[in-house]
Amino acid sequence: MDSTLRRTWAEIDLDALAHNYRTLRARMGEHARFLGVVKADAYGHGAVEVSRMLEELGAEYLAVSSLDEALELRQGGVGLPILQLGLTPADQTAQAMACRVTQAVWSESAAQAFSQEAQKAGGTLKIHIKLDTGMSRLGFSCDEEHFADSLEAICRVCTLPGLEAEGIFTHFAVSDESDGVSQDYTLRQYRRFSAMTEALAARGAAFAIRHCANSGAAAGYPQFACDMFRPGIVSYGIGHQAAELGLRPVMTLKTVVGAVRELPEDTAVSYGCTFRTARPSRIGVLPIGYADGLHRVLSNQWQVWTPWGAAPIVGRICMDMCMVDLTDLPQVREGDEAEVYGVHNSVNDAARLAGTIAYELTCAVSKRVPRIYYRGGREVARELLLRG
Ligand SMILES: *Cc1c(COP(=O)(O)O)cnc(C)c1O
Repeated sequence: MDSTLRRTWAEIDLDALAHNYRTLRARMGEHARFLGVVKADAYGHGAVEVSRMLEELGAEYLAVSSLDEALELRQGGVGLPILQLGLTPADQTAQAMACRVTQAVWSESAAQAFSQEAQKAGGTLKIHIKLDTGMSRLGFSCDEEHFADSLEAICRVCTLPGLEAEGIFTHFAVSDESDGVSQDYTLRQYRRFSAMTEALAARGAAFAIRHCANSGAAAGYPQFACDMFRPGIVSYGIGHQAAELGLRPVMTLKTVVGAVRELPEDTAVSYGCTFRTARPSRIGVLPIGYADGLHRVLSNQWQVWTPWGAAPIVGRICMDMCMVDLTDLPQVREGDEAEVYGVHNSVNDAARLAGTIAYELTCAVSKRVPRIYYRGGREVARELLLRG
Protein backbone atom coordinates (compact mmCIF):
# COMPACT_ATOMS: atom_id res chain seq x y z
CA MET A 1 0.00 0.00 0.00
CA ASP A 2 1.45 3.39 -1.04
CA SER A 3 1.67 5.86 1.78
CA THR A 4 -0.51 8.26 -0.21
CA LEU A 5 -3.28 5.65 -0.32
CA ARG A 6 -2.80 4.52 3.23
CA ARG A 7 -5.76 6.24 4.72
CA THR A 8 -8.95 4.30 4.13
CA TRP A 9 -9.30 1.70 1.39
CA ALA A 10 -11.46 -1.23 0.29
CA GLU A 11 -9.82 -4.58 -0.38
CA ILE A 12 -11.74 -6.55 -2.99
CA ASP A 13 -11.09 -10.29 -2.77
CA LEU A 14 -11.56 -11.67 -6.28
CA ASP A 15 -11.00 -15.21 -4.97
CA ALA A 16 -14.04 -14.78 -2.73
CA LEU A 17 -16.00 -13.55 -5.76
CA ALA A 18 -14.91 -16.67 -7.68
CA HIS A 19 -15.89 -18.89 -4.76
CA ASN A 20 -19.33 -17.25 -4.54
CA TYR A 21 -19.81 -17.53 -8.30
CA ARG A 22 -19.04 -21.26 -8.31
CA THR A 23 -21.15 -21.93 -5.23
CA LEU A 24 -24.16 -20.16 -6.72
CA ARG A 25 -23.77 -21.87 -10.08
CA ALA A 26 -23.65 -25.27 -8.42
CA ARG A 27 -26.77 -24.38 -6.46
CA MET A 28 -28.80 -23.24 -9.49
CA GLY A 29 -27.96 -26.13 -11.83
CA GLU A 30 -25.91 -26.40 -14.97
CA HIS A 31 -28.59 -25.19 -17.37
CA ALA A 32 -29.15 -21.79 -15.84
CA ARG A 33 -27.05 -18.94 -17.15
CA PHE A 34 -25.42 -16.62 -14.62
CA LEU A 35 -26.21 -12.92 -14.91
CA GLY A 36 -23.97 -10.87 -12.65
CA VAL A 37 -25.71 -7.76 -11.35
CA VAL A 38 -23.02 -5.07 -11.41
CA LYS A 39 -25.19 -1.95 -11.20
CA ALA A 40 -24.16 0.85 -8.83
CA ASP A 41 -20.46 0.17 -9.47
CA ALA A 42 -21.00 -3.49 -8.55
CA TYR A 43 -22.61 -2.52 -5.24
CA GLY A 44 -19.56 -0.39 -4.49
CA HIS A 45 -17.00 -3.10 -5.33
CA GLY A 46 -15.93 -1.62 -8.68
CA ALA A 47 -17.93 -2.64 -11.76
CA VAL A 48 -15.11 -2.97 -14.28
CA GLU A 49 -12.87 -5.26 -12.25
CA VAL A 50 -15.80 -7.34 -10.96
CA SER A 51 -17.20 -7.70 -14.48
CA ARG A 52 -13.83 -8.71 -15.93
CA MET A 53 -13.55 -11.38 -13.27
CA LEU A 54 -17.10 -12.66 -13.88
CA GLU A 55 -16.41 -12.77 -17.60
CA GLU A 56 -13.25 -14.78 -16.99
CA LEU A 57 -15.15 -17.15 -14.68
CA GLY A 58 -17.72 -17.88 -17.39
CA ALA A 59 -20.72 -15.74 -16.52
CA GLU A 60 -23.04 -15.31 -19.51
CA TYR A 61 -24.60 -11.90 -18.84
CA LEU A 62 -24.24 -8.72 -16.79
CA ALA A 63 -26.82 -6.18 -15.69
CA VAL A 64 -26.59 -2.45 -15.00
CA SER A 65 -29.14 0.26 -14.31
CA SER A 66 -28.06 3.04 -16.64
CA LEU A 67 -26.54 3.39 -20.07
CA ASP A 68 -23.52 5.17 -18.58
CA GLU A 69 -22.79 2.12 -16.47
CA ALA A 70 -22.90 -0.06 -19.59
CA LEU A 71 -20.58 2.35 -21.42
CA GLU A 72 -18.10 2.21 -18.57
CA LEU A 73 -17.97 -1.57 -18.88
CA ARG A 74 -17.45 -1.46 -22.65
CA GLN A 75 -14.68 1.12 -22.22
CA GLY A 76 -13.16 -1.24 -19.67
CA GLY A 77 -13.03 -3.96 -22.32
CA VAL A 78 -15.92 -6.07 -21.04
CA GLY A 79 -17.46 -8.04 -23.90
CA LEU A 80 -20.33 -9.92 -22.22
CA PRO A 81 -23.94 -9.13 -23.12
CA ILE A 82 -25.25 -6.40 -20.81
CA LEU A 83 -28.88 -6.03 -19.77
CA GLN A 84 -29.91 -2.48 -18.91
CA LEU A 85 -32.53 -3.11 -16.21
CA GLY A 86 -33.48 0.53 -15.79
CA LEU A 87 -35.06 3.34 -17.76
CA THR A 88 -33.23 4.38 -20.92
CA PRO A 89 -34.60 7.49 -22.68
CA ALA A 90 -35.68 6.44 -26.19
CA ASP A 91 -33.45 9.07 -27.77
CA GLN A 92 -30.44 7.13 -26.47
CA THR A 93 -31.40 3.99 -28.41
CA ALA A 94 -28.60 4.46 -30.95
CA GLN A 95 -26.00 4.66 -28.15
CA ALA A 96 -27.51 1.58 -26.53
CA MET A 97 -27.18 -0.31 -29.79
CA ALA A 98 -23.65 0.99 -30.35
CA CYS A 99 -22.52 -0.45 -27.02
CA ARG A 100 -24.52 -3.64 -27.58
CA VAL A 101 -26.86 -3.14 -24.68
CA THR A 102 -29.93 -5.32 -24.22
CA GLN A 103 -32.72 -3.07 -23.01
CA ALA A 104 -35.47 -3.98 -20.56
CA VAL A 105 -38.86 -3.00 -22.02
CA TRP A 106 -41.64 -2.25 -19.56
CA SER A 107 -44.56 -1.01 -21.71
CA GLU A 108 -45.88 -0.99 -25.25
CA SER A 109 -45.35 2.76 -25.63
CA ALA A 110 -41.72 2.43 -24.53
CA ALA A 111 -41.29 -0.42 -27.02
CA GLN A 112 -42.74 1.67 -29.84
CA ALA A 113 -40.38 4.52 -29.08
CA PHE A 114 -37.37 2.16 -29.00
CA SER A 115 -38.55 0.57 -32.26
CA GLN A 116 -38.77 3.91 -34.05
CA GLU A 117 -35.35 5.01 -32.85
CA ALA A 118 -33.78 1.67 -33.71
CA GLN A 119 -35.15 1.88 -37.27
CA LYS A 120 -33.86 5.45 -37.58
CA ALA A 121 -30.43 4.24 -36.51
CA GLY A 122 -30.69 1.41 -39.04
CA GLY A 123 -30.18 -1.47 -36.65
CA THR A 124 -31.74 -3.79 -34.12
CA LEU A 125 -32.07 -3.30 -30.37
CA LYS A 126 -32.11 -6.49 -28.34
CA ILE A 127 -34.79 -6.41 -25.63
CA HIS A 128 -35.99 -8.35 -22.61
CA ILE A 129 -39.67 -7.92 -21.72
CA LYS A 130 -40.19 -6.95 -18.10
CA LEU A 131 -43.25 -8.32 -16.33
CA ASP A 132 -44.73 -6.79 -13.19
CA THR A 133 -45.93 -9.75 -11.14
CA GLY A 134 -46.16 -7.95 -7.80
CA MET A 135 -43.27 -5.51 -7.38
CA SER A 136 -45.30 -2.60 -8.80
CA ARG A 137 -42.23 -0.99 -10.25
CA LEU A 138 -41.63 -1.35 -14.01
CA GLY A 139 -43.31 -3.92 -16.22
CA PHE A 140 -46.37 -5.22 -18.02
CA SER A 141 -48.99 -5.94 -15.35
CA CYS A 142 -49.69 -9.63 -14.88
CA ASP A 143 -52.50 -9.46 -12.31
CA GLU A 144 -55.87 -10.98 -13.26
CA GLU A 145 -57.32 -7.68 -14.36
CA HIS A 146 -54.53 -6.79 -16.82
CA PHE A 147 -53.32 -10.23 -17.89
CA ALA A 148 -55.18 -10.44 -21.23
CA ASP A 149 -54.32 -6.88 -22.25
CA SER A 150 -50.66 -7.36 -21.38
CA LEU A 151 -50.58 -10.63 -23.33
CA GLU A 152 -51.83 -8.87 -26.46
CA ALA A 153 -49.52 -5.90 -25.96
CA ILE A 154 -46.44 -8.12 -25.58
CA CYS A 155 -47.40 -10.08 -28.72
CA ARG A 156 -47.53 -6.79 -30.63
CA VAL A 157 -44.20 -5.64 -29.16
CA CYS A 158 -42.58 -8.85 -30.38
CA THR A 159 -43.47 -7.98 -33.97
CA LEU A 160 -42.18 -4.39 -33.88
CA PRO A 161 -39.43 -3.70 -36.44
CA GLY A 162 -36.00 -2.84 -35.09
CA LEU A 163 -36.46 -4.91 -31.93
CA GLU A 164 -35.28 -8.44 -31.19
CA ALA A 165 -37.08 -9.95 -28.20
CA GLU A 166 -34.52 -12.28 -26.64
CA GLY A 167 -35.73 -12.55 -23.06
CA ILE A 168 -38.51 -12.05 -20.55
CA PHE A 169 -38.20 -11.51 -16.81
CA THR A 170 -39.74 -10.41 -13.55
CA HIS A 171 -38.47 -9.25 -10.17
CA PHE A 172 -39.47 -10.50 -6.70
CA ALA A 173 -40.45 -8.20 -3.86
CA VAL A 174 -40.04 -10.48 -0.81
CA SER A 175 -38.12 -13.55 -1.99
CA ASP A 176 -35.55 -12.97 0.78
CA GLU A 177 -38.15 -13.27 3.57
CA SER A 178 -39.02 -16.69 4.91
CA ASP A 179 -42.31 -16.08 6.73
CA GLY A 180 -45.45 -17.68 5.33
CA VAL A 181 -47.03 -14.51 3.97
CA SER A 182 -43.87 -13.65 2.03
CA GLN A 183 -43.58 -17.20 0.69
CA ASP A 184 -47.16 -17.06 -0.56
CA TYR A 185 -46.46 -13.72 -2.21
CA THR A 186 -43.33 -15.02 -3.95
CA LEU A 187 -45.10 -18.17 -5.15
CA ARG A 188 -47.93 -16.05 -6.53
CA GLN A 189 -45.41 -13.86 -8.37
CA TYR A 190 -43.80 -16.96 -9.85
CA ARG A 191 -47.19 -18.37 -10.90
CA ARG A 192 -48.03 -15.13 -12.69
CA PHE A 193 -44.64 -15.15 -14.41
CA SER A 194 -45.10 -18.76 -15.56
CA ALA A 195 -48.68 -18.15 -16.66
CA MET A 196 -47.63 -15.22 -18.84
CA THR A 197 -44.62 -16.92 -20.42
CA GLU A 198 -46.75 -20.01 -21.15
CA ALA A 199 -49.58 -17.95 -22.64
CA LEU A 200 -47.06 -16.13 -24.81
CA ALA A 201 -45.47 -19.38 -25.95
CA ALA A 202 -48.92 -20.66 -26.91
CA ARG A 203 -49.27 -17.56 -29.07
CA GLY A 204 -45.96 -18.26 -30.78
CA ALA A 205 -43.97 -15.75 -28.70
CA ALA A 206 -41.28 -17.92 -27.16
CA PHE A 207 -38.28 -16.33 -25.46
CA ALA A 208 -34.80 -17.79 -25.42
CA ILE A 209 -34.04 -16.50 -21.92
CA ARG A 210 -36.64 -16.49 -19.13
CA HIS A 211 -35.36 -15.25 -15.78
CA CYS A 212 -36.68 -14.23 -12.39
CA ALA A 213 -34.33 -15.29 -9.57
CA ASN A 214 -32.57 -12.51 -7.64
CA SER A 215 -30.41 -13.27 -4.59
CA GLY A 216 -33.40 -14.00 -2.37
CA ALA A 217 -34.74 -16.55 -4.84
CA ALA A 218 -31.31 -18.08 -5.41
CA ALA A 219 -31.15 -18.65 -1.66
CA GLY A 220 -34.74 -19.67 -1.00
CA TYR A 221 -36.11 -20.96 -4.32
CA PRO A 222 -33.34 -22.49 -6.45
CA GLN A 223 -36.12 -24.24 -8.39
CA PHE A 224 -36.86 -20.81 -9.96
CA ALA A 225 -33.54 -20.82 -11.84
CA CYS A 226 -35.29 -20.90 -15.28
CA ASP A 227 -32.86 -20.11 -18.14
CA MET A 228 -30.87 -17.55 -16.16
CA PHE A 229 -30.59 -16.20 -12.62
CA ARG A 230 -29.63 -12.71 -11.47
CA PRO A 231 -27.80 -12.66 -8.15
CA GLY A 232 -26.56 -9.34 -6.85
CA ILE A 233 -25.96 -9.07 -3.12
CA VAL A 234 -25.18 -12.75 -2.46
CA SER A 235 -22.50 -12.82 -5.12
CA TYR A 236 -20.70 -10.18 -3.03
CA GLY A 237 -21.01 -12.54 -0.06
CA ILE A 238 -23.20 -10.24 2.03
CA GLY A 239 -26.84 -9.87 3.02
CA HIS A 240 -28.54 -12.05 5.61
CA GLN A 241 -28.62 -15.15 3.39
CA ALA A 242 -24.99 -15.22 2.27
CA ALA A 243 -23.52 -17.03 5.26
CA GLU A 244 -26.02 -19.89 5.21
CA LEU A 245 -25.08 -20.49 1.55
CA GLY A 246 -21.39 -20.66 2.48
CA LEU A 247 -20.54 -17.44 0.62
CA ARG A 248 -17.68 -15.12 1.55
CA PRO A 249 -17.68 -11.33 1.79
CA VAL A 250 -15.78 -9.84 -1.15
CA MET A 251 -15.17 -6.38 0.32
CA THR A 252 -13.11 -5.54 3.39
CA LEU A 253 -13.21 -1.85 4.24
CA LYS A 254 -10.06 -0.87 6.10
CA THR A 255 -8.58 2.16 7.73
CA VAL A 256 -5.68 2.83 10.11
CA VAL A 257 -5.31 4.07 13.64
CA GLY A 258 -4.00 7.49 12.68
CA ALA A 259 -3.36 8.92 16.14
CA VAL A 260 -3.75 7.81 19.75
CA ARG A 261 -4.79 10.30 22.43
CA GLU A 262 -4.71 9.96 26.22
CA LEU A 263 -7.78 11.69 27.61
CA PRO A 264 -8.73 12.20 31.27
CA GLU A 265 -11.96 10.96 32.80
CA ASP A 266 -15.11 12.92 31.95
CA THR A 267 -13.82 14.32 28.67
CA ALA A 268 -16.35 14.93 25.87
CA VAL A 269 -15.50 13.47 22.48
CA SER A 270 -16.50 14.85 19.05
CA TYR A 271 -19.35 17.06 17.81
CA GLY A 272 -22.33 17.34 20.08
CA CYS A 273 -20.34 15.92 23.03
CA THR A 274 -22.47 12.77 22.82
CA PHE A 275 -19.75 10.63 24.47
CA ARG A 276 -17.89 11.33 27.71
CA THR A 277 -15.02 9.21 28.94
CA ALA A 278 -16.00 7.29 32.09
CA ARG A 279 -12.32 6.75 33.00
CA PRO A 280 -8.90 7.91 31.83
CA SER A 281 -9.04 6.70 28.22
CA ARG A 282 -6.92 5.94 25.16
CA ILE A 283 -8.83 7.26 22.19
CA GLY A 284 -7.83 6.38 18.62
CA VAL A 285 -8.48 8.84 15.79
CA LEU A 286 -9.22 7.12 12.47
CA PRO A 287 -9.14 8.75 9.02
CA ILE A 288 -12.61 7.55 7.98
CA GLY A 289 -15.86 9.45 8.19
CA TYR A 290 -19.26 9.74 6.63
CA ALA A 291 -17.74 11.23 3.45
CA ASP A 292 -16.05 7.85 2.98
CA GLY A 293 -19.39 6.11 3.42
CA LEU A 294 -19.34 5.35 7.13
CA HIS A 295 -22.87 6.45 7.90
CA ARG A 296 -23.13 8.94 10.75
CA VAL A 297 -26.06 7.00 12.20
CA LEU A 298 -23.44 4.43 13.31
CA SER A 299 -21.97 6.96 15.79
CA ASN A 300 -21.67 5.40 19.26
CA GLN A 301 -22.98 2.12 17.78
CA TRP A 302 -20.46 0.39 15.52
CA GLN A 303 -16.90 -0.78 16.17
CA VAL A 304 -13.74 -1.35 14.16
CA TRP A 305 -11.73 -4.56 14.36
CA THR A 306 -8.09 -4.00 15.30
CA PRO A 307 -5.41 -6.75 15.31
CA TRP A 308 -6.16 -7.03 19.05
CA GLY A 309 -9.94 -7.00 18.97
CA ALA A 310 -12.94 -4.73 18.65
CA ALA A 311 -12.72 -1.02 19.42
CA PRO A 312 -16.07 0.77 19.78
CA ILE A 313 -16.69 4.00 17.87
CA VAL A 314 -17.24 6.74 20.43
CA GLY A 315 -18.82 10.12 19.80
CA ARG A 316 -20.21 11.33 16.51
CA ILE A 317 -18.67 10.17 13.24
CA CYS A 318 -17.31 13.29 11.51
CA MET A 319 -17.01 13.91 7.77
CA ASP A 320 -13.42 12.66 7.51
CA MET A 321 -12.61 11.09 10.87
CA CYS A 322 -14.03 9.17 13.76
CA MET A 323 -12.83 8.18 17.23
CA VAL A 324 -12.62 4.74 18.85
CA ASP A 325 -12.03 3.66 22.43
CA LEU A 326 -8.74 1.77 22.76
CA THR A 327 -8.56 1.78 26.54
CA ASP A 328 -9.07 -1.99 26.75
CA LEU A 329 -6.70 -2.63 23.84
CA PRO A 330 -3.38 -1.26 25.13
CA GLN A 331 -1.44 -3.14 22.42
CA VAL A 332 -2.92 -1.08 19.60
CA ARG A 333 -0.37 1.33 18.13
CA GLU A 334 -0.56 4.25 15.74
CA GLY A 335 -0.41 2.84 12.22
CA ASP A 336 -2.22 -0.41 13.00
CA GLU A 337 -4.88 -1.42 10.48
CA ALA A 338 -8.52 -1.53 11.51
CA GLU A 339 -11.31 -3.38 9.70
CA VAL A 340 -14.52 -1.37 9.38
CA TYR A 341 -16.46 -4.03 7.48
CA GLY A 342 -15.30 -7.50 6.57
CA VAL A 343 -15.00 -11.06 7.78
CA HIS A 344 -14.48 -10.08 11.45
CA ASN A 345 -16.89 -7.21 11.47
CA SER A 346 -19.86 -7.98 9.26
CA VAL A 347 -21.44 -5.20 7.23
CA ASN A 348 -24.73 -7.06 7.84
CA ASP A 349 -24.49 -6.25 11.55
CA ALA A 350 -23.57 -2.63 10.83
CA ALA A 351 -26.59 -2.40 8.51
CA ARG A 352 -28.91 -3.75 11.18
CA LEU A 353 -27.64 -1.15 13.66
CA ALA A 354 -28.03 1.58 11.07
CA GLY A 355 -31.61 0.50 10.36
CA THR A 356 -30.84 -0.37 6.76
CA ILE A 357 -29.53 -3.17 4.53
CA ALA A 358 -25.97 -4.17 3.64
CA TYR A 359 -26.57 -2.99 0.04
CA GLU A 360 -26.78 0.60 1.17
CA LEU A 361 -23.54 0.48 3.16
CA THR A 362 -21.31 -0.98 0.43
CA CYS A 363 -22.90 1.28 -2.20
CA ALA A 364 -22.10 4.22 0.07
CA VAL A 365 -18.33 3.57 0.14
CA SER A 366 -17.39 6.73 -1.70
CA LYS A 367 -15.11 7.56 -4.59
CA ARG A 368 -12.49 8.86 -2.17
CA VAL A 369 -11.85 5.27 -1.08
CA PRO A 370 -9.51 3.38 -3.43
CA ARG A 371 -10.48 -0.18 -4.30
CA ILE A 372 -7.53 -2.60 -4.21
CA TYR A 373 -8.07 -5.96 -5.95
CA TYR A 374 -6.51 -9.17 -4.68
CA ARG A 375 -6.10 -12.60 -6.21
CA GLY A 376 -4.21 -15.45 -4.63
CA GLY A 377 -3.28 -13.08 -1.81
CA ARG A 378 -1.55 -10.66 -4.23
CA GLU A 379 -2.62 -7.25 -5.38
CA VAL A 380 -3.59 -7.40 -9.06
CA ALA A 381 -5.25 -4.03 -9.67
CA ARG A 382 -6.26 -0.85 -7.98
CA GLU A 383 -8.77 1.75 -8.82
CA LEU A 384 -8.65 5.23 -7.42
CA LEU A 385 -11.89 6.86 -8.39
CA LEU A 386 -10.77 10.40 -7.62
CA ARG A 387 -9.06 11.98 -10.61
CA GLY A 388 -5.31 11.56 -10.22
C1 LIG B 1 -30.90 -5.22 -8.38
C2 LIG B 1 -31.63 -6.25 -9.11
C3 LIG B 1 -31.28 -7.61 -8.96
C4 LIG B 1 -30.31 -8.10 -7.93
O1 LIG B 1 -30.90 -8.02 -6.66
P1 LIG B 1 -30.20 -8.72 -5.38
O2 LIG B 1 -31.20 -8.61 -4.32
O3 LIG B 1 -28.98 -7.91 -5.10
O4 LIG B 1 -29.86 -10.09 -5.80
C5 LIG B 1 -31.92 -8.53 -9.77
N1 LIG B 1 -32.85 -8.15 -10.66
C6 LIG B 1 -33.24 -6.86 -10.81
C7 LIG B 1 -34.30 -6.51 -11.79
C8 LIG B 1 -32.64 -5.87 -10.04
O5 LIG B 1 -33.02 -4.60 -10.18
